[in-house]
Amino acid sequence: MSEKLIQRLCVIGVGLIGGSLARALKKAGAVAEVVGAGRATSHLQKAKELGVIDRFETDISLAVKGCDMVVLAVPLGAMQTVFEKIAPELNDDMVITDVGSAKGSVVRAAQAAFDMLPDTLVPGHPIAGTEKSGVEASFAELYNNRRIILTPLDTSSDSAVNKVRSMWQACGAEVVETSIEHHDEVLAATSHLPHMLAYSLVDTLAKMDEKNEIFDFAAGGFRDFTRIASSDPGMWHDICLANREALVKMINKFSHDLQQLSKAIESNDSDYIKETFTRAKQARDKYCDSKNINDSLE
Ligand code: NAP
Repeated sequence: MSEKLIQRLCVIGVGLIGGSLARALKKAGAVAEVVGAGRATSHLQKAKELGVIDRFETDISLAVKGCDMVVLAVPLGAMQTVFEKIAPELNDDMVITDVGSAKGSVVRAAQAAFDMLPDTLVPGHPIAGTEKSGVEASFAELYNNRRIILTPLDTSSDSAVNKVRSMWQACGAEVVETSIEHHDEVLAATSHLPHMLAYSLVDTLAKMDEKNEIFDFAAGGFRDFTRIASSDPGMWHDICLANREALVKMINKFSHDLQQLSKAIESNDSDYIKETFTRAKQARDKYCDSKNINDSLE
């Protein structure tokens, strides 16, 4: 039998993202054994029944023993505790990566947990997901043709980076590399800000006296714009605090532009309104063309 890319994989946090990774690697025949770890036995039992993992442990130090790849797929607020539990089991053959949506906070968590950053640590972030959570929502195709951003550290060894890259490529993903700072700034703009807007808009409407009528009359445009407000509140609480600095900068920038638009509407400034909408339409059309997106807007 030919040697697999990964002999023993430990997925800590077998939810949407960790479960989908395990499913994809199994489907690709790239892993010999998958060990799941998490807090609730019932969740891990479910993952085993679904064939996502082969066995599980609730003790993380036990779960990672003998693993050549460990993936942290837990909420950002849990990263440090998990790193602390892995620390006594660290060895040169154990590559460690994560899937956290902000990268600076993950590295700070690793720095706090380990005496020295291990050269086997390679932070990462799959640009793929849905608004659903849990292993039941996981599927093997989640990473097909999607981007994975790796943010290798100065300490990361080439062999560890290569192994993490190969793992994601086996899932059908395209792997790119960037710095932690750049990742956190770009993601604040493209992912974290839109989630804040969706949550905030739905919350504003939900607090209004006419909320029943408002939601009654809401059509496809409202549904498209607010889909991500159905994402897990706990996970997004962790993400916005983890990427606080870059996100607050983006929220302030957006608030300023929204204020300008409000003033233009108030003062009948047609030129400003048309220019803003035209620039936005051109930018979105270009984005859709480049990604082959064909959606009908209401
Ligand atoms: P999820 O479906 O809720 O899965 C999270 C998993 O972590 C659950 O299996 C949970 O199981 C486990 N967990 C939670 N706290 C834990 C702890 N303290 N110790 C051990 N296990 C713990 O969430 P997800 O959407 O997969 O997100 C996981 C990570 O992926 C997050 O860091 C997120 O930022 C990142 N991410 C998410 C998306 C997305 O679209 N969802 C996209 C890219 C990256 P128990 O409750 O049984 O412990």
